[in-house]
Amino acid sequence: MSVDAAKLNWMTTRLDAALGWARKFSIFQYPFVTACCGMEYMATATSHYDMDRFGAGFPRFSPRQADVLFVVGTISHKLAPMLRRVYDQMTEPKWVVAFGVCTCTGGFYDNYATVQGIDTVMPVDVYIPGCPPRPENVLDGLIKLQEKIAQGELAR
Ligand code: SF4
Repeated sequence: MSVDAAKLNWMTTRLDAALGWARKFSIFQYPFVTACCGMEYMATATSHYDMDRFGAGFPRFSPRQADVLFVVGTISHKLAPMLRRVYDQMTEPKWVVAFGVCTCTGGFYDNYATVQGIDTVMPVDVYIPGCPPRPENVLDGLIKLQEKIAQGELAR
């Protein structure tokens, strides 16, 4: 490798690291909330748990302005195409969080109407288990997502 190529590689790597660091603290989330997990989602956003500390306190209600899709609650097969459409409208880079056991696996709704995990509809980056997950679990998932974002690591 020539000196110029090595320098270029070094600069590209440092630029990627800087972008990852900036992105991890400027999360614009789109909440797709369908069921009771929404209560804990809102609890996590309150001042007591303070999602602003992580740069994730400002939800956007247009998928075109969001880079993290929070899927919160049970997803039926009837609703799944709408969820996929929201995901497709988000621009790259984008990440997905499955919030609660219904979203992760279908939970106890093991029936014909319920999607058995949203990873059958789209790639998922972080799974937050629980019925519902406590805010501490949500923050733990958010920190894991930040680590992925900083590394430029995508699930797909
Ligand atoms: S995981 Fe539990 S709290 Fe969350 S949507 Fe399902 S049933 Fe409701």
